[in-house]
Amino acid sequence: MTFRLPDLPYEAHALEPVISSATLKLHHGAHHRGYVDKLNRLIKGTELERCTLDEIVRRSSGAIFNNAAQAWNHAFFWNSLRPAREAADHQSSLAARFSAELKSVAAGVFGSGWVWLVEDSGTLGVAATANADNPLRRGLRPLLVIDVWEHAYYLDHQNRRDEYVAGVVDRLLNWEFAESNVSGKAVHAA
Ligand code: FE
Repeated sequence: MTFRLPDLPYEAHALEPVISSATLKLHHGAHHRGYVDKLNRLIKGTELERCTLDEIVRRSSGAIFNNAAQAWNHAFFWNSLRPAREAADHQSSLAARFSAELKSVAAGVFGSGWVWLVEDSGTLGVAATANADNPLRRGLRPLLVIDVWEHAYYLDHQNRRDEYVAGVVDRLLNWEFAESNVSGKAVHAA
């Protein structure tokens, strides 16, 4: 199939001031679009043309994997965010349990990567992946993700990744989306 760039689920300014419309337009319209377009070029005429994006992420390697996973990860990232709130959101039990760990794991990522809330055999936890990597490759179920590549924050926060991550975790994360991704088997420890 030919993959298409999904529309953002909100206006480009909806994530300000944590993520400016300039950053979001570039991130979605240039970076994410670039991964989708490149993936389509790479799979043209191969058996992968008949696969879903999930299948390509699970079974491919090299440049095809990198572009497929980046296309998957970015679509999941846009859905992991929602319009900015004024203050930190502790209404969700997931926010109360995992906000601090998401920040600390993000601070430990060296170079480009992603910080995920995942479900592993019914247990929820935080995991980081490098470059384009995706937890589906390790049999984990992604619930939520934060892009910590420099292109996600450099225009707005320069090298202050912690400032960007704190803004995302406290004001932008869509915890309802994460909750909707939890399987029926998950353990909801207090
Ligand atoms: Fe990105």
